[in-house]
Amino acid sequence: MSRDIRIQDTLTGEERPLEPRDPGKVGIYACGPTVYAPVHVGNARPYVVFSLFKRFLEHEGYDVTFVANVTDVNDKIYDAARAAGVPSEQLAREMTARYRSDTDGLKLGRPDAEPLASETIAPIIELIGDLIDSGHAYVAGGDVYFDVGAFPEYGRLSNRPREEMQQGEDDATSLKHHPQDFALWKAHKEGEDTAWDAPWGRGRPGWHIECSAMAEDILGLDFDVHGGGSDLIFPHHENEIAQTEAARNEQLARLWMHNGMLQFGDEKMSKSVGNIRTLSGALDEFGRDALVMYFVQGHYRQPIDFSEQALQAAARAVQRLRDFGRRSSPAHPEPEAIGPYHERFFEALADDFNTPAALAALWDWVNEGNRRLDAGEEVGAGEKLREMLWTLGLDNLLEADGAVDEEAQRLMEEREAARAAKDFATADARRDQLAELGWQVRDTPQGPQLVPLKT
Ligand code: AMP
Ligand code: ZN
Repeated sequence: MSRDIRIQDTLTGEERPLEPRDPGKVGIYACGPTVYAPVHVGNARPYVVFSLFKRFLEHEGYDVTFVANVTDVNDKIYDAARAAGVPSEQLAREMTARYRSDTDGLKLGRPDAEPLASETIAPIIELIGDLIDSGHAYVAGGDVYFDVGAFPEYGRLSNRPREEMQQGEDDATSLKHHPQDFALWKAHKEGEDTAWDAPWGRGRPGWHIECSAMAEDILGLDFDVHGGGSDLIFPHHENEIAQTEAARNEQLARLWMHNGMLQFGDEKMSKSVGNIRTLSGALDEFGRDALVMYFVQGHYRQPIDFSEQALQAAARAVQRLRDFGRRSSPAHPEPEAIGPYHERFFEALADDFNTPAALAALWDWVNEGNRRLDAGEEVGAGEKLREMLWTLGLDNLLEADGAVDEEAQRLMEEREAARAAKDFATADARRDQLAELGWQVRDTPQGPQLVPLKT
């Protein structure tokens, strides 16, 4: 934990050091999807960014808890379920499973906790009760609203003029006292098929309160990093801050880290605009390697365009890395010369998680490594290269099956043929030649396979 890690903090607008609340530990909360339809490639961006940010912190020696919630109670879910003629719980359950299996396709592991709003009702009701007691919220009909006027710090995160602070709620049916107030609890309405009992009446939570409750429940207050897409800065994250800080008189999170929007055809990819490509479709078409490469080629805070050309460029970059992995056998020692590139790589990530700058350092090493190989030097692929690729979610490109070269393949086939012909002298000679190239043959149910020789 010797490196100083800095993050561009949305709340202060400054690059600030990561100073964990509990030394050696980092808690991250990133807002996940509302599950009423399959997730799109844009929704995968925070998932990828924060999964990889966690890897980087682990590389730096931190013990990381990454929480990504699932919003499974929501107007959009009621509407979609009604249109499909299924219970909203069923739709939410199916789309949650689908979200998990789609993101599993990225092969970056699961977050440490994936809480559901529907399973966090008790902490939500408790938090709303505290806000009513402290005079920050009021009951109107069976609804409960946050009284923005009672929280003078409101607007610090999004920093926008009051008249632009539209909550985006359905004001026609709302009982709020002031247009800037927002719903914490909505009374049960005809046609909604999920509801819970609360002291102020039967109903269900508003969207913002679930994240305040879940984050506190799992990470406590004053946790280290709160993330999500930049589309959530207002009103969602502004409201999370207001709820938690009004009720607890303590900071919600130390740093606010927002990913830029993935765009498709000059507009933010969004289910409401209708310009979406599903994650599962993109995985089928381009494969997870190209998709992960595409994400890390952009700086997390910048907008990125989803296009055929961008994905093809990413696929070519993947191929270049795979080729380098093939040429640089794991049986040879890694040259010391990789050291400064490795250092530059991780320094770039320490500076506001700059993955394109880290990639540039990696490419510089790949170019130098290829030059050395061209000159006949033996260049090994060792720990340092593997650490860099692992942090980007691309260490599989060094895996044996991807890195087997044609020469080794031919030798293995000759060895098998010799063994079948009981020509053991030739078989042994081929085995020794393979060992010289850094490979050994392992017998598997699928037949013989080449694996790197342990040195
Ligand atoms: P949603 O289901 O729309 O609430 O989004 C789930 C997560 O994906 C949130 O963190 C959003 O900020 C993020 N997100 C949604 N659309 C995009 C997009 N086009 N680009 C990047 N992130 C997005
Ligand atoms: Zn949230």
